[in-house]
Amino acid sequence: MGSAHTIQRGGTVTVTVPKVDLIDGAAMPQLGFGVFQVGDDEAERAVATALENGYRSIDTASAYGNEEGVGRALRASGLPRDELFVTTKLWNSEQGHDNALRACEASLSRLGLDRLDLYLIHWPMPGRGLYLETWRALEKLKADGRVRSIGVSNFTVEALRRVIDEADVVPAVNQIELHPYFQQDGLRAFHRDHGIHTEAWAPLGQGHGLLDDPALARIAEAHGRTPAQIVLRWHLDIGDIVIPKSVTPSRIAENIDVFGFELPRRRPPHRDPGIRHGSSRSVTFRAWGTSGGAGRVPAGCASRRCR
Ligand code: NAD
Repeated sequence: MGSAHTIQRGGTVTVTVPKVDLIDGAAMPQLGFGVFQVGDDEAERAVATALENGYRSIDTASAYGNEEGVGRALRASGLPRDELFVTTKLWNSEQGHDNALRACEASLSRLGLDRLDLYLIHWPMPGRGLYLETWRALEKLKADGRVRSIGVSNFTVEALRRVIDEADVVPAVNQIELHPYFQQDGLRAFHRDHGIHTEAWAPLGQGHGLLDDPALARIAEAHGRTPAQIVLRWHLDIGDIVIPKSVTPSRIAENIDVFGFELPRRRPPHRDPGIRHGSSRSVTFRAWGTSGGAGRVPAGCASRRCR
């Protein structure tokens, strides 16, 4: 774990967000803000609210259609560029060496930036056979200073292994679907072995089911926190980078207010089968992923290519 950024919020609340040291030496806030399925104007409002609440890392994508709104909010904030960490992603139709170079310039222009902090290949699309040459283009963008760090998203072990074996730069992150119902142990172990940081998308399970789980409600009650806060704390404890999304101001504030409490560590984090319960009241919580409704993979999980 690297440094941290500390933000004075509303004159009274201080938020300290830890940073992780990426394999290329860059430091990335461990908690950021996502804007999937948010329209351009709404993204502008939501990102403005997020920045006011202390978020400094924003995750968008060319496919989200809201890079311009994100860019407007970044400029309006008046925050120095080096306080911000901006990620965007190259869409499937933008793969290929020259296409990728053009796609990056187009994203930079829509965001109104001259450099990205992190640029990701959104999906590997192995059937098209283009991700390796696309990665070569990202290596060039990094060498040219248009992008500080480069990474991938939704890459399998097989696709990661090919990039590591055949290219020069190891992906700094792999952004994957990850939450207590879908813990991705094998992929996370591979990341750990190769210095790749795991970044969790859908960290709250996209708000469906997970946050209504009775076991989670009991843990939340025991800590005087909300279910979303417990889940985000769990991610932080296992070392994930997280980018929860909300357009609701109270939830945006709630989702960054996760640094003032701890969940007891009962096992080494990498062996944890699920959310640790921290109650001293001996409430029995099932191990997530082993019984009841837990451990289910949302239907269509692997095929939702349009994210
Ligand atoms: P998420 O897990 O962040 O869930 C967001 C939803 O959870 C919200 O729409 C809301 O319904 C609910 N929610 C948020 N805060 C809450 C709170 N405090 N209490 C109760 N409910 C709350 O899902 P996501 O948006 O899909 O993922 C986060 C980010 O990850 C995205 O915005 C995007 O930036 C990124 N992402 C990337 C990919 C990819 O393929 N790389 C795919 C999906 C998302």
